[in-house]
Amino acid sequence: MQGCPARPERCRTRAGRELLRLVKCLCHVSNSFSLAVDCSSWIMHQKLLKNAHYIELGSYQYWPVLVPRGIRLYTYEQIPLFLKDNPYITDGYRAYLPSRLCLKSLFILSNETVNIWSHLLGFLLFFSLGIYDMTAVLPSASASREDFVICSIYLFCFQVCMLCSVGYHVFCCHRSEKTSRRWMALDYAGISVGILGCYVSGVFYAFYCNNYWRQIYLITVLAMILTVFFAQIHPNYLSQQWQRLRLFIFCSVAGYGVVPTVHWVWLNGGVGESVVQDFVPRIIVMYLMAAVAFLFYISKVPERYFPGHLNYLGSSHQLWHIFVVLMLYWWHQSVMYVVQYRLNQPCPDHVENL
Ligand SMILES: [Zn+2]
Repeated sequence: MQGCPARPERCRTRAGRELLRLVKCLCHVSNSFSLAVDCSSWIMHQKLLKNAHYIELGSYQYWPVLVPRGIRLYTYEQIPLFLKDNPYITDGYRAYLPSRLCLKSLFILSNETVNIWSHLLGFLLFFSLGIYDMTAVLPSASASREDFVICSIYLFCFQVCMLCSVGYHVFCCHRSEKTSRRWMALDYAGISVGILGCYVSGVFYAFYCNNYWRQIYLITVLAMILTVFFAQIHPNYLSQQWQRLRLFIFCSVAGYGVVPTVHWVWLNGGVGESVVQDFVPRIIVMYLMAAVAFLFYISKVPERYFPGHLNYLGSSHQLWHIFVVLMLYWWHQSVMYVVQYRLNQPCPDHVENL
């Protein structure tokens, strides 16, 4: 009989076996194919209902969420020590999961859902922009091979940054602390790669007409990022004791950009020059966005003032993620603007001869 549930004795619980026998019996009695299909869909529906949980979304109301079998959400008190980072996020934690269920949890509502999807969509954004730039924008601007290489490098860096972050937020709830820590290290490394992408493109186009300083700054930036990598593989890097050092390294790497910027302004004749007035505001906007994002990140505002109310939506880490995507997008727009400018304007003599 097609569609009828077979072998009720395979069912693990007694109630389940009884239920399957009853359904099978009904199917046989009816001797009708359509009823058999109905039976199957009814069983499927019952299964789904069994897996439905109601979770608290902030303090508003209870939302029904279908949670795959084997995944449940925990409160802050219930999660392992290595996941305890933000006491103001009181509920909605995934924990103790094997890799397969970590991946499956992509599709449930937890306190990491917005973190995961914001950067997954960010990855798709930079991937699409990359394809569009390579196939439409650069060819139409008669870009050189060098332009293609630099644009590919920085867009690749942005995509790596997004994917490392997605990886960490998907697998941080892994049952093995070691695996979770490895993904966290990769998340930090991804941020450095994203910053490297900004520096490579910024330095390359800012010093487009000055090969000497372009090489000096590219080498310095590469050396700095490599040093950060070596710091990151140190076993103490992710420890609580090194938290201040981590902040210092991160701020130094991001703040270093002021040096080539000031130098570039000086080389181009000071703040009165039109080329400076055209580009420096873009860098200032970038730094302002980075400062706001970083303030949210370290201060744990706004959930600090509404503990337990922003578990799923509106927490500081989600704002940080959104600001990171906005910053990288802003940088992409700025770089494409500079590419067009450089391809249309020849290098001025007084800079070329420096
Ligand atoms: Zn993150």
